[in-house]
Amino acid sequence: MVTLVPVHRQEDLNPFDIAQSQLDEAAAILQLEPAVHAYLREPVRELHVTLSIRMDDGSSRIFKGFRVQYNDSRGPTKGGIRFHPEETIDTVKALAAWMTWKCAVVDIPLGGGKGGVICNPKELSTNELERLSRAYIRQVGRIIGPEMDIPAPDVYTTPQIMAWMADEYSIIKGQNQFGVITGKPLPLGGSKGREDATARGGLYCVREAAKVLDFDTQGATMAIQGFGNAGQFAALLGPELLGTVTVAVSDSQGGIYNPDGLNAADVIAYKKQHGTVVGYPNAQPISNADLLELKVDILVPSALENVITSENAHCIKAKIVAELANGPTTPEADKILYENGVYVIPDFLCNAGGVTVSYFEMVQNAYGRYWSEKTVHERLNEKITNAFHAVHDRARNLQVHNRLGAYCVAVSRVAEAVQLRGWV
Ligand code: GLU
Repeated sequence: MVTLVPVHRQEDLNPFDIAQSQLDEAAAILQLEPAVHAYLREPVRELHVTLSIRMDDGSSRIFKGFRVQYNDSRGPTKGGIRFHPEETIDTVKALAAWMTWKCAVVDIPLGGGKGGVICNPKELSTNELERLSRAYIRQVGRIIGPEMDIPAPDVYTTPQIMAWMADEYSIIKGQNQFGVITGKPLPLGGSKGREDATARGGLYCVREAAKVLDFDTQGATMAIQGFGNAGQFAALLGPELLGTVTVAVSDSQGGIYNPDGLNAADVIAYKKQHGTVVGYPNAQPISNADLLELKVDILVPSALENVITSENAHCIKAKIVAELANGPTTPEADKILYENGVYVIPDFLCNAGGVTVSYFEMVQNAYGRYWSEKTVHERLNEKITNAFHAVHDRARNLQVHNRLGAYCVAVSRVAEAVQLRGWV
C-alpha cells in the first residue's frame, strides 16, 4: 500500500535570499536596467574578521565578526553592529541591504551597511564585552570613518558599547573622532532623542496609518513581540503619543498578557531586575507564538527576523503590523497579510527613526552644535511623515503591498544615484 505523505514546501528563510527576492520584485515593477539590478543585488564590500579576546579567567577565546558595506552611492554607508549568538554573514548582508533602502526611503544622504559579531553578550562580563568591542574596532577600523562608514547600535549593543568603540577609533587616529559612530551617550556627542527614536518613528508611522485607515488609536490595543530598546520605548511612548494600551509583551524567554493593559514603566523595571518579563505579576503568561496571533489592533514585532511566516500569517488578527524589527515578515507572509487586509508598515520605513536621528547625530557632531530634544522630534516627525506618505501613495497607486511600495520608492532613488555617478 502506498501512503501519501503531504508534500510541504519549506519556505526559504535565509535573510539575504529574502532581501534579494524583495529587490527582484521591485526591479521588475521599476523595469530597472539589468546591470543596475544586478549591481544592487550584492554588497559592494564585506570584511570578515577574527577576534581573539582575553577572557577574565586568563584564557583566550576566538570570535568571528563582519562588516558589510552594501551601497554607498547616496553617501557613506550607515548601519548598526549586532552582537548575537546566531549572527551569520547572510543576516548581516540582508541587514546591510535593508539599511540601504531605509536611508533612501527617508531620504537621508547615506548608504547602507551593517556589522555583527557572533557572541552571546549575556555570557560575557563587562570587561570581556569592552575588550571584544575594542578588538572589533581595531579590525574594522580600516574601513570605517565619519565620511566612510558609520556604525551604530543594533540588537544587544548599547550606548556604552558605542562609547568604547568611539574611544578605540579615536585612539587609533590619535584624535577625538566621535563622528565615527552614532548612538553614543550624550556626554560623548550623542544626540538627544536617539534612544527612543526607533520606537518614536514607528509610532509616527502608526499615527499616519491610522489617519489613512480612518481608525482611532485612542484606546487601541497593542501587542509587542520583543522587549529590547525598540519594544520598551514603543510600550512607554504608545500611550503618550497615540493613547494606545499595551496588552502583551514578550522577550526571548516568553511573554505576558493582561487584557486590561500593562504598565510599561513597571514591566521595564521588572525586566531590569529579573532579566526577563516572564513571571511579571498581574499578568498571565503567553508564548511568543500566541502573542503574535492575539486579537489586538496593533501588532509590533520588535525582535528578530522571520517571526511572521507562511505558517502563521493566516492567524494574524491585528489591523496594523508595525515592524520595529528588521525582516520580521517573510515574502510569502507579506502576500497573505495583504490579501487579508492587514496593513503592514514595513520594517525599513517603520524603524527608520533610529537611523534618522543617527544622521542628525552625525550632523551635530560635524558642526559641534547640539539641538534641543524638541528640534530632534520635529525634524524626525517631518522625515517620517513624508516617507510614510510617499510609501503609502506609491503602494496604493501600484496596487501592491506597502513593502513593495517602499522598495519602489527606495530602490529608484538608489538606482538613480548609481547611474548619475556613472557606475553602471
Ligand atoms: N541598527 C539600527 C537599524 O537597524 C540603527 C542604525 C543606525 O542608527 O545607523 O536601523
